[in-house]
Amino acid sequence: MNSVPNFPPEIAKDKSLRKYWYKRFSLFTRFDAGVRLDREGWYSVTPEEVIAHSAERCRCNVIVDAFCGCGGNSIQFAFTCNQMIAIDIDPNKIKMAEHNAKTYGVADKIKFINGDFLKLASNLHADVLFMSPPWGGPNYSKHKIFDIECSLIPVSATELMSKARQVSRNIAIYLPRNSNTQQLTKLAGPNNPVEIEPNFLDRKQIALTAYYGGLVRR
Ligand code: ADP
Repeated sequence: MNSVPNFPPEIAKDKSLRKYWYKRFSLFTRFDAGVRLDREGWYSVTPEEVIAHSAERCRCNVIVDAFCGCGGNSIQFAFTCNQMIAIDIDPNKIKMAEHNAKTYGVADKIKFINGDFLKLASNLHADVLFMSPPWGGPNYSKHKIFDIECSLIPVSATELMSKARQVSRNIAIYLPRNSNTQQLTKLAGPNNPVEIEPNFLDRKQIALTAYYGGLVRR
């Protein structure tokens, strides 16, 4: 008998998402406990092993995840930080993030805020700010070098960073692996350090994380 996997509805109707579904347990080790994702969630979520490493580096009292999506990153930060503030502009993403956090047993450590990070930034203060801003979907890989000043959504990296600094001086940004390193260095400001860490999964570089402020290892 031909056994067809029991795909969730968003995967059943979009064959291009199947490659992500086959990797579901590297995205969420507890996927079968009831994790829910939508279409964008499938291709934006950071593999758990990668974000668990960043969460260890960002260990602190209060952390903000500015673009939380379906919550994969916030869940890992909730394991290493005392309080997690998870923000997303899309109310459905917030609902899914909350559900997924319950699945992992960490919902009580997370404050979920449905809103525009760019507008909320001036009222937020945290020990660390983590951002995985929209890259514009999987198209980033078509660029030889990804221009973080022109291609990030919703604003340039410089503008995003100036909002981010209102929240914390300790900032981590998760970006395409081909992001322009000169631009990343410039974001630190004159004479300030940046640490650009490549993120690997199964020996393949899948992204990079740029660390600023006190998150830079000396
Ligand atoms: P990608 O382009 O990397 O696939 P997405 O388009 O999925 O990224 O965006 C990542 C997340 O950021 C989404 O959940 C989206 O709703 C959220 N988002 C976008 N703009 C804002 C904003 N201004 N404030 C907060 N969240 C935002």
